[in-house]
Amino acid sequence: MVNASTEAAWRDFWGDPNRRSNPYKSPPPPGVTYAKGYHRGEDLQALGSSDQIPVLRSGSVVAAYRLSLTGFSVAIDAGNGQFDIYCHLFEDDAVKSGWLSSGDRVARMAAANESPGTAWGGRHVHFVVSDNAFGASSSYADFDPRPIIVAALANGGVSGPTPGGSMKGIMETIVAAPNGTVVHIYPGGKHNFGSVSEYNTFRDQVNFLRSRGASNLMPLPDLAQVPNVTWPTFEYLCKYVGAPIS
Ligand SMILES: [Zn+2]
Repeated sequence: MVNASTEAAWRDFWGDPNRRSNPYKSPPPPGVTYAKGYHRGEDLQALGSSDQIPVLRSGSVVAAYRLSLTGFSVAIDAGNGQFDIYCHLFEDDAVKSGWLSSGDRVARMAAANESPGTAWGGRHVHFVVSDNAFGASSSYADFDPRPIIVAALANGGVSGPTPGGSMKGIMETIVAAPNGTVVHIYPGGKHNFGSVSEYNTFRDQVNFLRSRGASNLMPLPDLAQVPNVTWPTFEYLCKYVGAPIS
């Protein structure tokens, strides 16, 4: 925690029950489909003019990416195999790399229609805790944020981050680089897909091999579920997985 005023704002943000607009595991509203059938995070809404988001728990920003349903998202390695993921962010001045202490500003909430995938129900942060930095996607596990928020408020936001950050669980991955290229990053190498059809053909082949028992192949997401990552995240992933950056 940086100082007393920061801590007061942090406690107000995470501790005010009026801010909780949608809890974990709530069913979808009419007309909306959730991939897992329930709300994977906890929503905290803007109150008055306060739409700035202070980090709950300290840690390294290990991923910044966009998904169609959750918009721009930033993942912080909070330690102990947990990633705190802040979704529906305004991208332009969000913090996309480096270390953030609890109470530090990570971003402001995006307004409706400000960018894709943001906040149909008004300004809020969709806060997800997962075992994977890309856990804004329903491809990964999610945990109830509520006891984690309560514990963080009790101990001042201190966590046990992995030194230097971690992408736990990621041995290979498929992401869209900021130039739009869909890239398969794997240990020792990288492959740029030249077209949507090339990607889908590769995906079909992998699914075929998996159906025949090739369990060491990563199942590939539907193209619409491939995260659009920032360059810092792209470079971080390449280093982490052991692929060349350029
Ligand atoms: Zn939400």
